[in-house]
This record gives sequence, structure tokens and C-alpha cells, in this order.
Amino acid sequence: MVWSKRLTWTELHLVIVLILLLMHILSVLNLVLSPTYRYVKKHYLPLNQFYRKVFLSPGLIYHFMARLPPTTNKQHLNVSTLKVQNLSVNIEDKSILNDFSLEIPSGEVHAIMGPNGSGKSTLSKALAAHPSYEVLGGTAELDGKDLIGLEPDEISRAGLFLAFQYPIEVPGVTIANFIRAAIQARMEDSKAFKAVDYYKDLYKKMDELGIDRKFTARALNDGFSGGEKKRCEILQMAMLDPRFCILDETDSGLDIDALRVVSEGVNSMRSENRGFLVITHYQRLLDYIVPDKVHVMWEGKIVRSGDKELAKELESKGYDWIKEELAA
Ligand code: ADP
Ligand code: MG
Repeated sequence: MVWSKRLTWTELHLVIVLILLLMHILSVLNLVLSPTYRYVKKHYLPLNQFYRKVFLSPGLIYHFMARLPPTTNKQHLNVSTLKVQNLSVNIEDKSILNDFSLEIPSGEVHAIMGPNGSGKSTLSKALAAHPSYEVLGGTAELDGKDLIGLEPDEISRAGLFLAFQYPIEVPGVTIANFIRAAIQARMEDSKAFKAVDYYKDLYKKMDELGIDRKFTARALNDGFSGGEKKRCEILQMAMLDPRFCILDETDSGLDIDALRVVSEGVNSMRSENRGFLVITHYQRLLDYIVPDKVHVMWEGKIVRSGDKELAKELESKGYDWIKEELAA
């Protein structure tokens, strides 16, 4: 009888290996089909990294991990928190920021308001490593990674995006090629990049932002009106899908309709995994992009913080009120 035959050691090993392999395949299948897998894939791991980890490790461990509630992972990763501590910045030997500190927790939108020349753009450009701004000390951590000292491309890869107050014109480089090159440069494996998907996404976002599709082939910001430049900044932001966005006076140069469209674009990107710093001179923008906190900047420092009512107070009383209070 074949069933009564005793297995040799080799056969026994083979059976055990087969059972383990089967369990591995089943657990990987189970994981790939689970909603948690889609969540992890979308928010935490690029697909190729994920596959590498799944196939190089025992499937059962991943099976277990994929069953953990997403909040556990989120707390662990502490996504998209920007923490600026004691930042001091000079321009041409003139001190603009001195011991500047600010923390924006993941998922929150903070606004910085302040009179012209108070150092708002200096803060944003120093965080993005503009070469004219000399950082003398301090840190600026995005999810624990210090951005100070990194090159602009490394900062972009770390997840920070800056929409410029004065976007520069780049004749000869079309919007479509510029954004495509930027996306590809940030990808770990640019072979996965599909032009068809890219154009589909680009056109969808251009339509949402009210940008004519003819602009796809126009040179970046070349001859654009103030409002067109600002919409183009938001288009880049939407396409690059950054973890933290700084908008430097994106409202300037926009008429009321464009302001509404741009704000809707920003609001649609708000999520618990992304933070925003919105710099503005006027309260009007904050009617559309309602901030969690408002800070007032004055001579390179935050001198007041409050909720959205603070912005309304500034609008009615002007900045002189703050100046007088500080002088007293
Ligand atoms: P804000 O954005 O709040 O209007 P900025 O950060 O642009 O203020 O400017 C802060 C101060 O730094 C101002 O006094 C401004 O004149 C000065 N400043 C900004 N950029 C330069 C520069 N490239 N060279 C010299 N001074 C500058
Ligand atoms: Mg400015």
C-alpha cells in the first residue's frame, strides 16, 4: 500500500517546503487583495518597494502587518509634519529671520500674514534652499528629516513644494515637458512612468484649474499674466502631489473667479497626510482656504497666533494695530 509507506527525510523536507510555499503564496494573495494593502500602497510605499518587501520577506509577517489598522502606521510615520526650530537667515549679511520657530502638524493648514518686508518670502525660500539666502542656524524638519543643508532637488524628493510669489519665466521649456521631467526626476523607477496616464492626469487638472489646454505647449510662464502664472504654480503642485505645500502669496494677481478656482484646487488637496503653509497679505484668500491657525509675522518673528478670526481682525484694524501693541 502506497499510503503506509514511510516518508524519507528528503521527502518530508520537500513536503514541508511545499506547505510553507503554499502558505506564503496564499498570504501574499490575501494581502494583495486586501483594502489595507491599497491603503498602504497609496499612502506609504511606492509599489516597487512594496513588492520587494513582500516577496523578500516571509509572507505571513506581511499578512499580519497588513491587518494592522492604518492609524497605527500613521502614528508611526508621523506624516507631513513641518517643524521649524530656531531658524536664523541672512540676506547679504542682513539678518531677516532670527530664531524663528513654527510647527505645522500633519493635515493642518496654517496661514502666515504680515506686512511687506516682514520676512515671509525669506522663510519660504530658505526652506526651499534658494542660494541667495544664507541659513546661519536652526532646523526645518519634515517628518523628522532636516531639510536645511539639502539641495533643492533633495528637498523636493523629501516632499516639500513651494509655489513662488514671483514665478520665473522659462522660455523654450513647455509646461507639459517641465512638469513631466519634474515628476520623472522624483520617481524611484521612472520606467514605470506612462505618458498616456500623465497627459490624462495633466488635462484633468488643467480643466479643474480653468487652464486652457493650449497652454500645455506654451513655454513655462513665458508671457503669462500674473493670474496665469499663479494657476500654473497650483497645477505643478497638484501634479507633483507633495506632502507639504507652501504657497507664497498665491492670491496676488488673481481676480475673484481665479481665486475661487485656485482655492478649490488647494482645498481638494487637503488631507490628513498633507500639510499647508499659506502665506498671504490679505484676509480674502482665507475666506476660501480656511486655515486651522493664523500667525502674524513681523520683523522676522511670529508675534501673534490665533484662529481664522485673527485674520479678520487684521483686515479690519490693519497691521498698525499690531505694531502699536508691540511698541507698547
Ligand atoms: P515679505 O515676503 O514678508 O514681504 P521678504 O522676505 O521678501 O518679505 O523680505 C524681507 C526683507 O528682506 C525685506 O527687508 C527685503 O527688502 C529684504 N530682501 C528680500 N530679498 C532680498 C534680496 N534678494 N536682497 C536684499 N534684500 C532682500
Ligand atoms: Mg513675500
